[in-house]
This record gives sequence, C-alpha cells and structure tokens, in this order.
Amino acid sequence: MSESKESIQRTEIGSLGEFGLIQRLTNNFPLQQSTTIKAVGDDAAVLRGSDQAMVVSTDLLVEGVHFDLAYFPLQHLGYKAIACNVSDICAMNAYAEQVTVSIAVSNRFSVEALELLYDGMRHACKVYNVDLVGGDTTSSLRGLVISITAIGRQMEHKISYRASARPGDYLFVTGELGGAYLGLQLLEREKQLFLENPSIQPDLENQRYAVGKFLKPEARKDVVLWLEKAGVVPHAMIDLSDGLSSDLMHICQQSQIGAEITESLIPMSEEAKLLALKFQLDPFVCALNGGEDYELLMAVDPEEARKIQFLPGFHYIGECKPQQSGIQLKTDQGKLHPMKAQGWAHF
Ligand code: ADP
Ligand code: MG
Repeated sequence: MSESKESIQRTEIGSLGEFGLIQRLTNNFPLQQSTTIKAVGDDAAVLRGSDQAMVVSTDLLVEGVHFDLAYFPLQHLGYKAIACNVSDICAMNAYAEQVTVSIAVSNRFSVEALELLYDGMRHACKVYNVDLVGGDTTSSLRGLVISITAIGRQMEHKISYRASARPGDYLFVTGELGGAYLGLQLLEREKQLFLENPSIQPDLENQRYAVGKFLKPEARKDVVLWLEKAGVVPHAMIDLSDGLSSDLMHICQQSQIGAEITESLIPMSEEAKLLALKFQLDPFVCALNGGEDYELLMAVDPEEARKIQFLPGFHYIGECKPQQSGIQLKTDQGKLHPMKAQGWAHF
C-alpha cells in the first residue's frame, strides 16, 4: 500500500479542529449491522438489545510499545487494530458487530496520515462486517495511541470460555503458526540495516508471506462460522496472540488441566520453516513461542472432533490431560518435555 496520499499533501490537524477531524475520519463508514441504531454523531452510540449475550473486548495500542511506524504502514496498522479486536470476539465463539475507536495523536501526524489509518480500519470493518459506532479523539504529547473496543453477540450457551476445557478434550489449532513472528524478525532486521546504512533498500520482495502475516493478520471469523455449521461449540477457545505455548498455558491454568501436544503436528508453512532456518532458528520454537498469529486454539469434546477434523485449516495437535500430568510437548523421538510459556510479554 502506498502512502502517496500523505506525501502529496499535509493538512495540519489544528486547521480542522477536533470536530472537523472526527467528521473527516469517520465519514464513509457505511453501517452493516441491524443491531446498530445510532453510530457516530451523538453523545453515545445506541445498539439494539437482543436475546443474545453481549461479548465486549478492549485493546490499547501504544506507539513504540505495540507497533513501530518505521515499518508499519498506517493502513495496515488500522486494519490490524480492528482485526485483533475482532479476533478476541471470535475466540469467544461470538460474532463482532460493532467497534469503537479512540485515538490520541501528536501534531507530528497530519490529517492525511490519520486518514490512512482510518482507510485500513474501514477496509477491516467491511471485511468483518462490523460497524464503527463511536470513539474519542484527543491529543498526545508524543506518538500515537489507539484504543479499540469490539462488541459482539452470541447465544449464551455457545460462548467458549478459556476455563472450561476438560481432560480428554482434543486440541485443535487453525491455520499455520510462526509466520507473524518471522515477519517481525525480517522487518526488525531490515530496520537495523537501514539505520546502519540508509542507502540500503529493503529486501522484502520474496518475503511477502511472513511480512503479510505480521502486518496484515486476519481474525478467524471463518472458523467461528465453520464451527457453527458443524454444530460444534468448543469447550474452550483462545486466540493465539502471545504464542501457542503461552496461550495453551492460559487454557490449562484456567481450566485446571494439563495437556500433551505433538511437535510434528503443529502446522507451519514451508515459507515460514525456510525463513526460520535462514535466521538459524528452530522452526518449531518459532511456531510455539512466536506471537501475533491470531489463529484459534480450541479444546473440543472427543465425541465431536470428527465433525471438525477435516474442515479446512483445522489441525489436531494433541489432547487435554488431567492437571497432574502437566503440560508436555512430544518430540519426533517420542520424548516428552515439559512446556514453558515463552511467548511475548510486554513487561
Ligand atoms: P463528546 O464530546 O461527547 O465526547 P465527541 O465530540 O468526542 O463527543 O464525539 C462526537 C462523536 O464522534 C461521538 O459519536 C463519538 O463517539 C464519535 N467519535 C469521536 N472520536 C472518534 C474517533 N476517533 N473515531 C470514531 N468515532 C469518534
Ligand atoms: Mg469525546
């Protein structure tokens, strides 16, 4: 995606004022949900109630902590910010319907730059069928802060919690793991090379897969739809934001169970495996500990597993065990190793 719009023109935020800015950013977000009664423009949004439970999730993203604008195009950032919130709603086996977006910006950002951010958000809202219904806009002394709240709905008995996996449940993971982590490694490496020698052009042309996984992850709403079609409600589900090992541990701790997963069953793309080897990293370590893949990990009743095991992108990786068995990783040699959480931690 190009940022030409920004380089051609630079409108100062101050020249529009707060209301003008909000107007500029939030126009052209067509509403798609019948549960949205009033979106942007009043003191509060108005949503239609229903017999379903509401599922609400909030994320806060701080420049320099959660994203680096040196290599993160604003459009992608907007897309990813919405996708990550929708992913949290998917992880509850629910459907996101509305989002609110709050931003704090310094005058380093032009109106055009913020428009790019909202272009990405608009695209994500369309893809995930969610309405932007409100937010807040304020100034910051330095940098960009984005807070998004996603609101979803689901029948109460179909919501999947982290805390209700049972020993004997089969563990499935969707998609392919490790790609986002390797994409980040690539971008960080290019950034360092650039800082050392600004005349070097980034060499990312052959790395679209991993870079794309990091810059433009997708929420697995399709997986929630597949589960519904199959008539399966996972006993527990979580989205992989920190990495398979830490996120599996969250399910195990909250459900008071153990687990055993098999290394060779962890899905990884050929591209990611090759890239890991290029970085002299163990591909499985990238798949286990790399974060931000936003795939779904679920614990499913073994009686129901046959209904989903052949669905596209569903991979059986192991089983839930009683708590005293601990959390173990089975290697190719059949050896069991206790697993440690080594995912991303912000603190
Ligand atoms: P208030 O002064 O009551 O907080 P605002 O002027 O901040 O109202 O907001 C006016 C309307 O614009 C509200 O509907 C609010 O939800 C919406 N809004 C404000 N900032 C944003 C934003 N960054 N993104 C989306 N909607 C926003
Ligand atoms: Mg306000």
